[in-house]
Amino acid sequence: MKDKKTLLRLLPKVDECLLVLASYLEQENVPLRIAKKGVQSVIDTYRQNILNDALERLPENAEEWSLLFRDKICELNDPLFKRVINGTGIVIHTNLGRSILSNEATRQITTAGNYYSNLEFDLKTGKRGSRYSLVEEIICDLTGAEAALVVNNNAAAVLISLETPATGHEVIVSRGQLVEIGGSFRVPDVMEKSGAELVEVGATNRTHLYDFEGAITDRTALLLSVHTSNFRMIGFTSEVSADELVELGNRHDIPVMEDLGSGSLIRLPQFGMSGEPTVPEVVGAGVDIVTFSGDKLLGGPQCGIIVGKRKYIEKIKKNPLNRALRIDKFTVASLESILRCYYDNDSVLQNVPTLRMISQSDDLIKKRARRLIRRLKAKLADYCTLTLVPTVSLVGGGALPEYSMDSWAVSLRPARGSVNNLERDLRALEIPIIGRIEHDCFLLDFRTIQEHEIIELAGELVTYFNY
Ligand SMILES: *Cc1c(COP(=O)(O)O)cnc(C)c1O
Repeated sequence: MKDKKTLLRLLPKVDECLLVLASYLEQENVPLRIAKKGVQSVIDTYRQNILNDALERLPENAEEWSLLFRDKICELNDPLFKRVINGTGIVIHTNLGRSILSNEATRQITTAGNYYSNLEFDLKTGKRGSRYSLVEEIICDLTGAEAALVVNNNAAAVLISLETPATGHEVIVSRGQLVEIGGSFRVPDVMEKSGAELVEVGATNRTHLYDFEGAITDRTALLLSVHTSNFRMIGFTSEVSADELVELGNRHDIPVMEDLGSGSLIRLPQFGMSGEPTVPEVVGAGVDIVTFSGDKLLGGPQCGIIVGKRKYIEKIKKNPLNRALRIDKFTVASLESILRCYYDNDSVLQNVPTLRMISQSDDLIKKRARRLIRRLKAKLADYCTLTLVPTVSLVGGGALPEYSMDSWAVSLRPARGSVNNLERDLRALEIPIIGRIEHDCFLLDFRTIQEHEIIELAGELVTYFNY
């Protein structure tokens, strides 16, 4: 092996490399800064390897270097934000963007991007309007609430709802509901940020109405109930119901707030009466302030929705924090579109993709999985074994944690190489394919793979295995 100095002198000069690449860069329309960054980064990696005695071999000629540069430049010139194929079976997958939107909602986002709009302009009076007025009435129609407000996400909805009435005051909450929901949403932390003083009552497993009642003082500003989402206690447990809290709140003239988290607007048929309470049910029970996410069971864009009694919602609207937490035009445009689907009870399960995926029959899922197998079986026969296997998928997003849904997956077992390598390689494809490894097979759950993705998926797999 040559000594380090000699090796370092063999590294090419950036400017010379760029000259060699010139026609490629022009043809692919690559900005010079990206090209420089790519070339520099490849050379730097070799330099580091030389210095750390980790060099295996140097490219031998300009041609070989150019191939490396092109790969890197190509990678740098590609948007980092990519669509993926979700084969995890988790419908509301926070890491994969939670809910996907309907075509109509997506069209509204495109319109909001391509054109000026009446976002804050009242077309009837020609005067300034409010972006919230475009969605408030629909939300009230669908939830039965007197008033509504939409903010950036549900964490923001909880924050502003607690901050508004409760700064410098006490908020009573059950000890069993002081949970962390993931993505570092911790109820006690949010409360602290809001300036409210937390009064924990009850024991970890059991809280009773008299615990709440005994903690009420003249500084009590709110009785709070939090949906524990992805956390569930079983056994000797009890929590105070919304009805009981509302009755207590009324007696002491203290508002009651419930953070529902997922907040479904309708009762999902297959979950029956044992499911979570819906937003209209909680509003109907008389809870004064109800918060929930826009992109969980509702199936809309990221946002947090606050509904309830007008006198409380109006105060929250006037909170200066509201300006900092406001939603953008893309959210307004797509949220309205998704909400409109809920006016029609018969078609909402079809028209809101999140609801469609949750409620689809496992027969339909099986059909889609079979289609992929039929397309691939012969073509991939030498490279991997494809089988149809039953599996279970999850709603996700902290919603309905104890429900799993029967589903079907295509299981891939590579003839050569490890299943871990397969999983990694599929993540690196042009449209990354995300699945999970189970019993040494790579599983693609078809609950979350759409009809029109099957051809793309098949094409990518054929290319990958033939490569
Ligand atoms: C998910 C969740 C939140 C946070 O909502 P985001 O929309 O992610 O900000 C808050 N509370 C509960 C109970 C949740 O399930």
